[in-house]
Amino acid sequence: MPALRAALLNWYDAGSRDLPWRVRGGRPDPYAVWLSEVMLQQTTVPHATPYWLEFLRRWPTVCDLAAADDGEVMSAWAGLGYYARARNLLACARAVTERHGGVFPDTEDGLRALPGVGAYTAAAVAAIAFDRYAHVVDGNVERVVSRLFRIATPLPKAKTEMRARAAELTDPGRPGDWAQAMMDLGAMVCRPKAPRCDRCPVAVWCAAKAAGDAEAYPVKAPNTARPRRYGAAYVLRRGDEVALVQRPAGGLLGGMLGLPTTDWSGERPDGLAQAPVAADWRRVGEIEHVFTHFSLTLEVWTAEGEGLDGAVWSREASGLPSVFSKAVRMWQGHAAKRSSRKASARRSRRSDRRD
Ligand code: SF4
Repeated sequence: MPALRAALLNWYDAGSRDLPWRVRGGRPDPYAVWLSEVMLQQTTVPHATPYWLEFLRRWPTVCDLAAADDGEVMSAWAGLGYYARARNLLACARAVTERHGGVFPDTEDGLRALPGVGAYTAAAVAAIAFDRYAHVVDGNVERVVSRLFRIATPLPKAKTEMRARAAELTDPGRPGDWAQAMMDLGAMVCRPKAPRCDRCPVAVWCAAKAAGDAEAYPVKAPNTARPRRYGAAYVLRRGDEVALVQRPAGGLLGGMLGLPTTDWSGERPDGLAQAPVAADWRRVGEIEHVFTHFSLTLEVWTAEGEGLDGAVWSREASGLPSVFSKAVRMWQGHAAKRSSRKASARRSRRSDRRD
């Protein structure tokens, strides 16, 4: 074990990933680490990085974030998905400010007591920001451990064994660097497909490499298909503005601005009959969107009109949740085609008259 740890830490010291929230030879700002960990839970480093930079530019400290307007934070979060996480982000920033004077607790237990901070985030922040001995196990680490030990139990049942194995490996002298080294190994070398075993610093200890079946790990339980739901979304136009409505706080995308929609259920809706106001509605098409627990087929309808209760009229669709941005893009593409067809018909009529 000591030789494996030394090999991985030497590799990490020699040049692993340069990430904006990473500080070498010192301790990073816990606020910046926490923010990065929350953002990275369901998305990739390239996708999360501009959001992380923008959040720090607008709200440089946890107290600044705690004082921010909810709507502005939700809008800045748009595109990262999982809006419950943005709401928890605010709740946590406010708890750190009100209960701890703007200073993050420096233990796993203290962090775990904050709203929205789960076991993984508490371990990651404790290890990376405070160099506490904590076992940080994300998807990358699960993959590395499952291959090193050739864990045959399928996920998610294998998680307990993976955690125990990851705990055995953790370097007690440099837990923060160890956590980041394992994550980097999973992201850069021990990739899901085509792992680079020839460049791996721990290859000599790897059971899956020895057996030549690394890609078979982690073993996954057979897929259960996501259920499909259907709905309709409405692009109600007033000149160059579009009507947006605030979604109910407790539900999916709760508290966010979005297009008016029907309920999303297992049955296809009657999009025309369920339109939010009477108008000359036209069906534009359908988009597909995948949420964590279901796939959505969403019809897109459009009309010129007014009279929608509680509507916020906006020219901007950039801060909307992805599902609504997709619907707006579909309508914009449709509108551009219609206007180009009209222009070409006008040209052709003019040319007929000349002839
Ligand atoms: Fe992953 Fe290959 Fe390294 Fe094993 S040897 S940990 S499979 S990259």
